[in-house]
Amino acid sequence: MKVCRVERRLPYAALLCTLHAAGATEDEYPPRHEAASRCELSREHDGPHIAHLYSRGTDPELWAQWEGEDDEIRFVHHLPCVEPSPHADPIHRWACTLPADHDGGHSWEAEGYDIGPDEGPLYVP
Ligand SMILES: [Zn+2]
Ligand SMILES: [Zn+2]
Repeated sequence: MKVCRVERRLPYAALLCTLHAAGATEDEYPPRHEAASRCELSREHDGPHIAHLYSRGTDPELWAQWEGEDDEIRFVHHLPCVEPSPHADPIHRWACTLPADHDGGHSWEAEGYDIGPDEGPLYVP
């Protein structure tokens, strides 16, 4: 599948407040010029765009969610989908990193994903 990748700049002050509230430390804050996110859902998705911001341990992950160009960014918490990829090799069986109940394909269905994600949980049965 192709990924939506619609980009949206994030309100920096609100982003830092939200990260702080989620337990992020200062060295985990993004620099101001990188305070933008790209939608990680598949290109044909319904509903709002969504981009991962922060995760800590087993807490629900922090995501930025927005409808359109002029819609206000909402910071929302979601547990991950964790649907395992059907890849035969159990060592490369990645869990979906998108929010639970997300629309469209799983993260491991994205183009280029077959080389493995940069980060993200391995599926542990
Ligand atoms: Zn999108
Ligand atoms: Zn999924």
